[in-house]
Amino acid sequence: YQARQEGVSLRFFSEELTADARERLELGSQLRQAIDEDALELHFQLQTELASGRWIGAEALLRWAHPERGWVSPAQFVPVAERVGLIGELGRWVLRRACEQARIWRDAGLAFGRVGVNVSAPQLIAGGLVQDVDYALAQAGVPPEVLALEITESVLMEQDRHVVAQLEALRARGVQIALDDFGTGYSSLSYLRGLPVDQLKIDRSFVQGLPSDQTQIKINRAIIDLGLSLGYSVLAEGIETREQQEVLLREGCPLGQGFYFARPEPAAQVTPRLCG
Ligand code: C2E
Ligand code: MG
Ligand code: MG
Ligand code: MG
Repeated sequence: YQARQEGVSLRFFSEELTADARERLELGSQLRQAIDEDALELHFQLQTELASGRWIGAEALLRWAHPERGWVSPAQFVPVAERVGLIGELGRWVLRRACEQARIWRDAGLAFGRVGVNVSAPQLIAGGLVQDVDYALAQAGVPPEVLALEITESVLMEQDRHVVAQLEALRARGVQIALDDFGTGYSSLSYLRGLPVDQLKIDRSFVQGLPSDQTQIKINRAIIDLGLSLGYSVLAEGIETREQQEVLLREGCPLGQGFYFARPEPAAQVTPRLCG
């Protein structure tokens, strides 16, 4: 019976893998085409200073209008891009578009703070990120101070000297480094101390339980206090209600982002919200 059961689950497992692999191949080649045909778009989600409501930045978020599937989430196609070897090119496209947008807002005299760009692990591991950033900034004609790069904890976990050196080089230029989805990885704050990071972005999952969940309040408080006392800027992600904003402000969180303040939108819709 045991063997039979294993046989059955193995069969399902391998069928699943095949479907998965097929899906990946298909999405991969369509993504290749989408990059070539400029069918990808960047949306921007404004970030705010909680106490004043002032905009302090805009995170660039990839959007793909797939011809048959409609909008495909970056959470779905970024991992595909990583696995089929398209992430380098995709990453350079995002950097270019983000810097171009910064250039447009700057030329219009608008206060947008920084544009945040998500960077995935393979981009840092491949080793060309510093040159890619320099190139995108130079092409757009904007200084490094308009850019923030968002990386996840797992990238720093290894303490790979080569990865750390690239982040240090970027910071030395004036690019801000934010640690995205903070709290979902395995690193402790003491472990992060001394690493080339400017900002912690508290993961949405910790904000979701607010304002009623007392444990979540304590977790947020702990991250905020330790983050600030170690000299990091702290931003809470995924704020959806006024009550969540109020709790976070009360707990001393300086910055926030979420549907309550602004949704990710095409640049044309973000521009009128910015002040000169
Ligand atoms: P992320 O960097 O953590 O981005 C935040 C995600 O939370 C975005 O999802 C955003 O739309 C969503 N979000 C923002 N505020 C709220 C809120 O109040 N409530 C809820 N429920 N969600 C909120 P999105 O755009 O689907 O992106 C998903 C992930 O895909 C991103 O997570 C990021 O890891 C990745 N991604 C997006 N664009 C890029 C990119 O250009 N390059 C790379 N490498 N990854 C990207
Ligand atoms: Mg992000
Ligand atoms: Mg995040
Ligand atoms: Mg996330």
